[in-house]
Formats: sequence, structure tokens, C-alpha cells
Amino acid sequence: MNKMTIYSDLSKIIQYSGRVKLDEPLGAYTYTRTGGKADVLVFPNTYDEVLQTYQYALKEKVPVTVLGNGSNVIVRDGGIRGIVIILTELNRVQLSGNKITAQSGAAIIDVSRFALKNHLTGLEFACGIPGSVGGALYMNAGAYGETSDVLESARVIDKEGKLLHLHRDDLKLEYRNSAIAQHGYLALEGTFALEPGDVAKIKAKMDELTYLRESKQPLEYPSCGSVFLNGRPIILPAS
Ligand SMILES: Cc1cc2nc3c(=O)[nH]c(=O)nc-3n(C[C@H](O)[C@H](O)[C@H](O)COP(=O)(O)OP(=O)(O)OC[C@H]3O[C@@H](n4cnc5c(N)ncnc54)[C@H](O)[C@@H]3O)c2cc1C
Repeated sequence: MNKMTIYSDLSKIIQYSGRVKLDEPLGAYTYTRTGGKADVLVFPNTYDEVLQTYQYALKEKVPVTVLGNGSNVIVRDGGIRGIVIILTELNRVQLSGNKITAQSGAAIIDVSRFALKNHLTGLEFACGIPGSVGGALYMNAGAYGETSDVLESARVIDKEGKLLHLHRDDLKLEYRNSAIAQHGYLALEGTFALEPGDVAKIKAKMDELTYLRESKQPLEYPSCGSVFLNGRPIILPAS
């Protein structure tokens, strides 16, 4: 399908200006600062917008690529055909008892800080990982602890465009791998089950992890983290 038609159709689903872009260079949205153009780039900010965009793509047989914070991808110079969905506008974070539910575009660093603010322990490990919640679920992100330690459940859209609520056991979180990556699900949100903790101890742990990271990684340069083994970057499009 013609990209002008896709642009025009998606502008009816995602109506606020600036959240649907035609021929948008992706370098602005990736940590390596590289990448060709997306035919059509969208920034949904409700689950309904994501679902409608996804179902439109299925119906019209347009390829869809999902990005979170772009910290673990290398986009080829030729860019990405079809629709690219960037989820960073879908970033609300909510507390319920000792559980935090975060939409997939929320920065996992912000969720870690939200846990600290609410005196909850378990997400300290995420305080320096520059990805989104969706990216963390996709690859079971971690360093000195990992997403699977605290993830309780997730809401996803499957490849047929159906909404599923998956328990952690169904998510098959393994070392830098998950059912989300294996089955091509789009993650909408994750719920983390945490424990009440001492705020000074939580903060001390986060400071220690930040010190370790800063002493090992040149964070001032463009990068996509580990390149050769741990969580190596995903090259888009795949071939
Ligand atoms: C300086 C630096 C340090 C890093 N340190 C660590 C570390 O300590 N530990 C670690 O695990 N990783 C680390 N990373 C890698 C990266 O931050 C993580 O892999 C992170 O989880 C990627 O999230 P993202 O939102 O940026 O994903 P993106 O780079 O946007 O996407 C990565 C993959 O996830 C998929 N994806 C993203 N969001 C969704 C979604 N909502 N639903 C379905 N699929 C989705 C994309 O399609 C793509 O295949 C580091 C990266 C950098 C640049």
C-alpha cells in the first residue's frame, strides 16, 4: 500500500498533530543516532490507538515495527517500510499496594525511581538501564538483577491483533529473551510485584549500581549497550 494512503489513514486514528509522521528519519529515535527513514512513524498514547493502528496494519497487510526507547536497536540506512510504532508517549505509571503497573513506553529508569519514591524494593537493578518497560519485557533486561525477578504479568497484543493478559509463567522470561520476542507480541504494560523496603537502603543500592555502571561504561557516547553478547542489539529490518 502507498505510504501516503497509510499516513492519511493513520492520521484519522491518531488525530493530534505531530504524532503521525511521513518519511521520518529514525536516527533521532535511536541511541546510536543512526538509521534511515520510516515510511510512516506513529506515537500512540492510548491502548486504543495502539490496537487500532495494529489492526489497521493487519487488515491492510502493512508491516509493523515496534520501538521503545531505541537503546538496543540498529536501524539500517535503507530505513523501515510500512508503519513504525514508537511507544514512548504511552508512559503512565500507577501504584496499587506494593505493585506498580507501568505502560510499555515508560522509561524503566523512571519506574525504578517511582518505586524508590514509594519505598518499594525490587527494581533497583533497573536504575541505569536506558530502555522502556516494553524493551525490558521483550528481552528480560537486567544488570545485577533482572526483569523476571519482579515482573508479575503483562498485557500484550498478539499477532492476530488480540489483547492478552499474560502471567509471568506464560512470558517465558529467560536470559535476554521472552515469549514477547519469540511470538512477536506487542507489549502494552507490565505489572511489577515489589516489597516494602527501607528508602535509605534502596537509594544506597541504586547509588552503588550507578557508580559501577559509570565506572565501566562511557555513557557520553552514542551506543546500544553490549554489542557482542549480553543483550546484543537488534538489527532492523531483520534482512
Ligand atoms: C548505555 C547502555 C547501557 C545498557 N545497559 C543495559 C543493561 O545493563 N542491561 C540490559 O539488559 N540492557 C542494557 N542496555 C540495552 C537496552 O537498554 C535494553 O535492552 C532495553 O531493554 C531496550 O529497551 P528499549 O525500549 O530501548 O528497546 P528498543 O531498543 O526500542 O527495542 C529493542 C527491541 O525490543 C522490541 N520492543 C521494544 N518495545 C517493545 C514493546 N512494547 N513490545 C514489543 N517489543 C518491543 C523492539 O521491537 C526491538 O526488537 C543498554 C543500552 C545502552 C545504550
